[in-house]
Amino acid sequence: MRYSNLHNHSTFSDGKFSAEENVLAAIEKNMLSIGFSDHSYTDFDPNTYCMKKGVLPDYIAEINRLKEKYKDQIEIYLGMELDGYSVLEDRTPFDYILGCCHYVRKDGMQFSVDHDKNWQIRDVAAYFDGDYIAYARMYYDGYVESVRRDKPDVLGHFDLPTKFSLVDENDPVYRKMATEALIACLEVTPVIEMNTGAISRGYRKTPYPAEYLFDEIKKHHGQITLGADSHHIDNLIYYFDESVELLRANGFQNIVQLTHGRFEEFGIV
Ligand SMILES: [Zn+2]
Ligand SMILES: [Zn+2]
Repeated sequence: MRYSNLHNHSTFSDGKFSAEENVLAAIEKNMLSIGFSDHSYTDFDPNTYCMKKGVLPDYIAEINRLKEKYKDQIEIYLGMELDGYSVLEDRTPFDYILGCCHYVRKDGMQFSVDHDKNWQIRDVAAYFDGDYIAYARMYYDGYVESVRRDKPDVLGHFDLPTKFSLVDENDPVYRKMATEALIACLEVTPVIEMNTGAISRGYRKTPYPAEYLFDEIKKHHGQITLGADSHHIDNLIYYFDESVELLRANGFQNIVQLTHGRFEEFGIV
């Protein structure tokens, strides 16, 4: 299958390669389409990973330039990984919005969920009495709220707080909370990414979302698209074959990919 990857970072945020280098690599891999989802600017955390203030017009212009330059070779889409705690004033230039949450917000403070394992340990100890369930609950509350407000086109790395294996994914209380949040989000946005980024970076052995959520996705008419969360051109379609295999083994008949300007179904059986 020719793959599309809509979760992709360039040097406009924390990716290692320029947008054009990403496009050339995608053409080399004979990809169906590539979307750029550089991180939205977050005013309370401007220095770790997000797009710098004022860079947005250059980003939009460059992706549009590449769209035109390579239009006979690959479909290119302009997206944004919109954090649930940042604001995007004008959505009109974008082909899609990938809705993600990288923080837990409590008492006016934002705690990064995925940046550093030791930060998560420190923050849960200091601000959540060591209670990872309470921490995860606050994350999912924020995620659902941002999805209802922003109505993204794709739900990104849904169960991110499990990245460092500190939140117990087997705890039934946790599972119920994540499941209910998922159902609430799918009512707004049916397309959810299977995100392989934590595998390529060595944090996890399986993609987001976790397997116990698959049946709920099917039951609630969710559609899965693949997202590499790539920061390096070697990872543009990392673990995509394996992800398709995993979906097939779990009874999925198809995935959706962005092509011809819309999400189209691609059979996997
Ligand atoms: Zn992200
Ligand atoms: Zn990302």
